[in-house]
Amino acid sequence: MNIAHILGFPRVGFNRELKFILESYWKNRTSETKEMLFKTRKEICLKAWRMQKLLRLDFLTVGDFSFYDHVLSTLCGLGGLPKRYGFNVKSPSIDNYFDAARGINNFKAMDLKKWFNTNYHYLVPEYTSGMEFNAEFTWLLEEIDLAKAIQHPIKVCMLGPVSLLWLGKEYGDLSNRVEVLPRLLEAYKRVLMNIKLKGVEWVQLEEPIASFSLPAVWRIALRTAYEQLASCSPKILFTSYYAFPTEMYTFIKSLPAAGFHFDITNNVSINQLETYPSDKVLSVGIVNGRDVWKNDLKRSIHRIERLRSKIRSEMWVSTSCPLLHVPCDLSTEGKVSESLKRKLSFGVQKIQEVVTIKEHLTSQMSTIAGSSLVKETHFNPRVGFYTEDLESECCFKRLNYLDRIKLQKPISNLPIYPTTTVGSFPQTEHIRKIRSLFKKGNLSQKEYITTLKSEVSFIIKKQAVYGLDVFVHGEVERNDMVEYFGELVEGFMITENGWIQSFGSRCTKPPIVFKDLSFIRPITVYWSKYAQSLTNKPVKGMVTGPMTILNWSFLRKTQTIQELSLQIASVLRKEVTLLENHGTRAVQVDEPAIREGLPLLYENWNQYLSWSVKAFHIVSSGISASTQIHTHLCYSEFGEIVDTLVKLDTDVISIEAARSNMFLLEPFKECGFTNEIGPGVYDIHSPMIPSVEEVLLRVKYITTCIPKERIWINPDCGLKTRTWSQVDKSLANMVKATKVARLQEPTI
Ligand code: GLN
Ligand code: ZN
Repeated sequence: MNIAHILGFPRVGFNRELKFILESYWKNRTSETKEMLFKTRKEICLKAWRMQKLLRLDFLTVGDFSFYDHVLSTLCGLGGLPKRYGFNVKSPSIDNYFDAARGINNFKAMDLKKWFNTNYHYLVPEYTSGMEFNAEFTWLLEEIDLAKAIQHPIKVCMLGPVSLLWLGKEYGDLSNRVEVLPRLLEAYKRVLMNIKLKGVEWVQLEEPIASFSLPAVWRIALRTAYEQLASCSPKILFTSYYAFPTEMYTFIKSLPAAGFHFDITNNVSINQLETYPSDKVLSVGIVNGRDVWKNDLKRSIHRIERLRSKIRSEMWVSTSCPLLHVPCDLSTEGKVSESLKRKLSFGVQKIQEVVTIKEHLTSQMSTIAGSSLVKETHFNPRVGFYTEDLESECCFKRLNYLDRIKLQKPISNLPIYPTTTVGSFPQTEHIRKIRSLFKKGNLSQKEYITTLKSEVSFIIKKQAVYGLDVFVHGEVERNDMVEYFGELVEGFMITENGWIQSFGSRCTKPPIVFKDLSFIRPITVYWSKYAQSLTNKPVKGMVTGPMTILNWSFLRKTQTIQELSLQIASVLRKEVTLLENHGTRAVQVDEPAIREGLPLLYENWNQYLSWSVKAFHIVSSGISASTQIHTHLCYSEFGEIVDTLVKLDTDVISIEAARSNMFLLEPFKECGFTNEIGPGVYDIHSPMIPSVEEVLLRVKYITTCIPKERIWINPDCGLKTRTWSQVDKSLANMVKATKVARLQEPTI
């Protein structure tokens, strides 16, 4: 046991420096802001590496930084930006990189998808036939040079070629992206050789797809890749994470790499590793990189000792995955109670745990300080409302859809192609400022509420001007759709600075579940009620769904997501009932993250999905059939779980579709979905304004897949990241296009 290392540190910076510099650069792309951007990268990297050295990790991990997303950075670094932009892909500029991520002029941004079972999003590579990869990954080579100044051994990390290929899609006339592998490997070989020439001994090639059960063609791709890379690369640490690759283990360990990294958290049996080859390094990911709880050091040491008694290979100790999904540092948290703090561990603390385990094992100390973990308070799954009733299946069944719509007359009396939005409107500087003043105690609650009410009233007036049919209140009271619920539901803890990157400059601050979840007060009712009082148009109530709240929170270790979903669903059921009691005629239960909790192995999907449907029904069935239930989903591979989405049995689904080229419509059509659907007609993550023609074209396309009386018109997602001027133009065009479509006979 001679190495303690991590797979990567959060790249946003200890105080979200990356976010702030990105936003300032995008607002004003000058040579000064560009210089600041590169300077910030340098500072973020140096600070992280200095800390790694100080905390006695044996390697600085270099290559975990990315200006927007590491999939895009790898692709761009190898020369693989999509050709359709017309960039010089051999030496792409930072602006080319951002334009591919965010769209430019008439060129749509690359697709954005959720990264494995996490809330991180990556940009989907587009592989075309004859594609070449001729760039030198200069940013990575620069970072290696920068890290050398720290004078500590370096290990370079990089997304592996087969995962990079798997995560992408065929574009244009390419029929199978595996065909691109040989040219991609040429590029990897060149880059790896250059890394080796810089004196780097180890490279961590990350193949998170190894945790899936891969079809034969992808196993062959892995073998081909690693056979070719081995000879011209630094020593390769083949790195899998997010789960132990049970099914692929025998195959993986036969690949020609100098070592392997496995995630052995979550009760992975040590026995599985008994047959590990003695001539390869084994890196054990024993400190969980996905949760925020302290490691049980005694248990970890015991497990590694057991493993050491069974195998003879050199062992390294590490985190289970890169630390991308945890906040940087717990020590700066002021509001967390001391008793809870003793149970928590963020990025820096996880490094300390890795080092402690390694040092303990090397020095053979017999006791370990601070290893006794505070026990979690026993949970009670029946906490909350209605849980007793919910034991009986029949209480959460709604009337069937065709009977429901007859009762939904007051809201369903809408024109053909009803227009709406997904919920949020711009979170302006002004709104953020008054929220921050209020939180710091520099603005009274009365003033805060008055200001927010005037924002809601402004948003209601705006929607009337655009001519939308179903309104929203705009979510001005929410800093974030999960954090806000975390603040108002008993059992969650909100950190001050526990930010994690979602993609680019977007960060979230996941609440931490630390005890049973229960309803203590209405969460959204005040704002919905106020908004509805300002207009005769129906205003949708807006609630974050149970699985999204859980998947975007840090959960307790001792409770399964199933148990917690019953608790949170009970809380939301109460909220939705209150909304209805206060006159809301339509409630949207957002579930954009429903797919994220899916286990990596397909055979375990069903159990998770059936719980998700159950949780959703608990929320949606407490109200009468005459109240319309909407849901919203976005930026995930929903194609594979369309059946489950249908089972949610909502009256209306609004779903991101423009950004991903309406790909989902076919699966919805095929599985016989009979309810209403609003496929997004423009991408809201791009600052580009959709033209009337563009929206109209999409509407017409939608009519070829879905009967016109079941179509809603809405953007891909909420508008909180856009400016008012963008929203004004985009929604005006969306409504204009809808009016034209209403006048024309849809082409079916
Ligand atoms: N209602 C939320 C909003 O409009 C939905 C956001 C999401 O899907 N991530 O912001
Ligand atoms: Zn969305």
